[in-house]
Amino acid sequence: MDECIFCKIANKEIPAKVVYEDDRILAFDDINPQAPVHVLLIPKEHYTSLNDIPEEKKDLLGHLLLKARHTAQEKGVKESGYRIVLNTARDSGQDVFHIHFHVLGGRRMTWPPG
Ligand code: 5GP
Ligand code: ZN
Repeated sequence: MDECIFCKIANKEIPAKVVYEDDRILAFDDINPQAPVHVLLIPKEHYTSLNDIPEEKKDLLGHLLLKARHTAQEKGVKESGYRIVLNTARDSGQDVFHIHFHVLGGRRMTWPPG
């Protein structure tokens, strides 16, 4: 995916503040944070959204989710609380079409989301 910004981040073609990395996934600070803690977690492999993840990749989703928790811990918000967001397709407000989990924390969240 030549034009995908998150593929470029995964390939280190454009910089990001990486907070966690392994062979399958990357976590980095959001460029426009919506909370004191705002980290994005992506698979290195390109998938457009949750709608694009095949059944046999379910442990990649589990891995992302557990590393989202790990990120919350590393950022000091695991006990105070955090929100994991997975925007999927147009009505969700998804802007970047490479699947990513948001981890938001460090302030009181409201409900319902906008
Ligand atoms: P979405 O609306 O697709 O769920 O969220 C996309 C997120 O990616 C936004 O929070 C936006 O600030 C973030 N973002 C977009 N481009 C970049 C970038 O080049 N670097 C980083 N670190 N975050 C980005
Ligand atoms: Zn991509």
